[in-house]
Amino acid sequence: MSAEKSDIIRLESVAAMQKTMGDYFNRLKDAAETGNKKIAWCSSVGPAELLYSMGFEVYFPENHGAMLGAGKNADKYIPTAVAHGYSPDICSYLTSDIGSFLQNETPLQKMGFESVPKPDVLVFNTNQCREVEDWFSFYARHFDVPVMGIHTPLNINELSEGIIQNVASQFKDLIPELEKVATQKFDIDKFKHTIGLSHDGCVLWRQVLETAKNIPSPINFFDAAIHMGPIVVMRGTQYAIDYYKILLAELQNRIKNKISAVPEEKFRIYWDGMPLWYQLSSMAKLFARHDTCIVASTYCNSWIFDDLDSKDPFVSSALAYCKLFIVRSDDVKEKVLEKLMTDFSIDGIIYHESKTCARNSNNLYGLQNRLYNKLNIPFLEINGDLNDPRCYSEEQTIIAIETFISQLSNQVGKLDKVQL
Ligand code: SF4
Repeated sequence: MSAEKSDIIRLESVAAMQKTMGDYFNRLKDAAETGNKKIAWCSSVGPAELLYSMGFEVYFPENHGAMLGAGKNADKYIPTAVAHGYSPDICSYLTSDIGSFLQNETPLQKMGFESVPKPDVLVFNTNQCREVEDWFSFYARHFDVPVMGIHTPLNINELSEGIIQNVASQFKDLIPELEKVATQKFDIDKFKHTIGLSHDGCVLWRQVLETAKNIPSPINFFDAAIHMGPIVVMRGTQYAIDYYKILLAELQNRIKNKISAVPEEKFRIYWDGMPLWYQLSSMAKLFARHDTCIVASTYCNSWIFDDLDSKDPFVSSALAYCKLFIVRSDDVKEKVLEKLMTDFSIDGIIYHESKTCARNSNNLYGLQNRLYNKLNIPFLEINGDLNDPRCYSEEQTIIAIETFISQLSNQVGKLDKVQL
């Protein structure tokens, strides 16, 4: 039977992905219940390798935030955080996560958790934003446990030796503080081994995403946003490597058999910015219905840390975590995007301006116009938010996206910003 256009052609690897994520949460639950391992909370592009190498189970509040968004529950919790003094204009991962904690509700309860796993220590890197420090500090105060982190310079144009050395030494400075909490001392060989595992996992994740260079693409943004779970929460472990080998094999098989992510691929789009977690499935169907595949995104590319090198673990950690797209100047971002447009044969760009995450909205300082003037690739800007559905107008956005795609087929060119 042929697929309906709005059908999502599901990846079979989803079962292995769910098992990999389920096992991860079981390890965390075990640590929370038995105390057999210490638990560190980590920001999504924080020093996960260091924490795994020191024997922590590692929990990622942003992953929890995305679960709240995808479960369409964020707006139930945000007002509680607002009542406790957190602005509705700051990161809606933060506000939904803190709100759900204050209401003592979490999707983890469906997996048998009593609550989110209590941290023994919280570790952040401000490479992505300052919110992670404020967010983690809330829990540090609540649980009376240490919070520590790496403060990375922002808008980096040139990755100078000074920046790399400074950040590398901040990685090292964490060690004595972590040793006060960890059950084991820092071991350089274990750290090198973990860095090697993280590198290998990231290389596989890059290969997964780069299968989308094929026409038609075997994977789209909505698949990738789901299947990125293991690289976010298990980078530095064999679990992530094992899973991405399975996913990559399925995608290579799809390429061989010309199986595309959407039933008919006519247009190839680049998605800039965060997903709208509460709209993931309906957006996937919308684009499929219009023969459009979102083949690449800034967001999913953000977990490719293939500069990690076990021979030089501290300097390569600093390099990998400073090289990240979100930390770079607009000039650097423009060059990265320019190359991606060619590599992935992009017909159009959608910029999602996320109300509560300016750091992940790249259309705020004219980049979209400059890129258009250089490449003449049409673009659309939509307003919304990663987690807070109150910032998003579904009807108007659908109209804008449908108009954009129909104009792509006529190659009309640049569209106006959608005013919501
Ligand atoms: S980068 Fe954006 S979405 Fe992520 S934690 Fe920071 S403010 Fe929130």
